[in-house]
Amino acid sequence: MSVLIFIDHIDGHIKKASLEAMSYGAKIAGETGDTAEGVVLLGGVAPDLAALGQYGVNKIHQVQNDNLQTFDSQVYAHVIAQVAQQTGAKTIIFSNNPMGKAIAPRIAVRLKAGLVSGAVSLPDVNNNFIVKKNVFSGKAYANVKVKTDIKIISLNVNAYTITETSGTAEVVPFNATVEAPKVKVVATNKTSGKVALTEAEVVVSGGRGLKGPENWKMVEDLAESLDAALACSRPVADAHWRPHNEHVGQTGIAIAPNLYIAIGISGAIQHLAGVNRSKVIVVINKDAEAPFFKAADYGIVGDAFEVVPKMVDAVKKLKGTA
Ligand SMILES: Cc1cc2nc3c(=O)[nH]c(=O)nc-3n(C[C@H](O)[C@H](O)[C@H](O)COP(=O)(O)OP(=O)(O)OC[C@H]3O[C@@H](n4cnc5c(N)ncnc54)[C@H](O)[C@@H]3O)c2cc1C
Repeated sequence: MSVLIFIDHIDGHIKKASLEAMSYGAKIAGETGDTAEGVVLLGGVAPDLAALGQYGVNKIHQVQNDNLQTFDSQVYAHVIAQVAQQTGAKTIIFSNNPMGKAIAPRIAVRLKAGLVSGAVSLPDVNNNFIVKKNVFSGKAYANVKVKTDIKIISLNVNAYTITETSGTAEVVPFNATVEAPKVKVVATNKTSGKVALTEAEVVVSGGRGLKGPENWKMVEDLAESLDAALACSRPVADAHWRPHNEHVGQTGIAIAPNLYIAIGISGAIQHLAGVNRSKVIVVINKDAEAPFFKAADYGIVGDAFEVVPKMVDAVKKLKGTA
């Protein structure tokens, strides 16, 4: 039997979230005595899949088909379900990112499998397969018992540390029935930031306290000095100060970086819902009563226009790039 891990990529570049999922799945396989196997769906050039053995996967099933060039969750779910059935997978792991969220529930229905979405730690395989997950937008945890034969887990991004070993994976072509996509992509707008928001270790985010788009230069400077991705609150995106793909929160992107720096953001519950899984939160706000300080690990009460340039200078000095 196997633990099957869906390996997600952008144009052949394997996402960090998938490296976490592989490490997580390999650890479960080690505990259950199963093999850790990956599945990769490719419409174009294949990345070096054998090298992914260093994340603990023993075997990778490679499905190559032109129809997979366009992401269609129904087509992808059908293919992954075939791999799961033919390989006898008992546990299937996804990242709880947009792709995983679109595919995992569809496979759960197809395979009559219990699904735990947003897992934050390893399942207790010796105790009824209990999995801990986030609930209420990260405000609480629930321990969920999975009773079905086949179990599906989608792992929260940044919830499990990537572990590397020295192995290589056996790569085997998988002959699946691949339907034509039912969706047609009419345009693709790629984000211009150097670091993808959902993959970023550090995120620098600005809110309405920055007064206008003309003041974002200092936010960009801080992000650049820290190799960070940029984010913003919803009113900032609504006012077109920043693009909507930077909007984080309940109605925007949910992120979980190691460090989230919030500048001139009040900390409304809808904003916190998308960022409160960050490992360390730093808040810069001139109002000492701003709600965000309650969620912060570190806070600076001060005017962003004075604090942020000083931070940029300090980081540059620390890195020797001043
Ligand atoms: C259904 C629903 C969904 C929503 N979804 C989201 C969401 O996904 N994401 C989201 O962000 N919001 C969301 N909102 C909006 C949310 O409720 C808040 O209105 C929003 O987050 C506030 O944005 P802000 O903190 O940038 O602005 P404000 O609330 O106006 O806060 C600005 C902050 O900047 C501080 N400030 C001002 N000047 C300075 C200065 N010079 N230096 C330092 N600090 C300064 C102020 O003290 C204040 O705390 C949603 C609302 C609803 C109703």
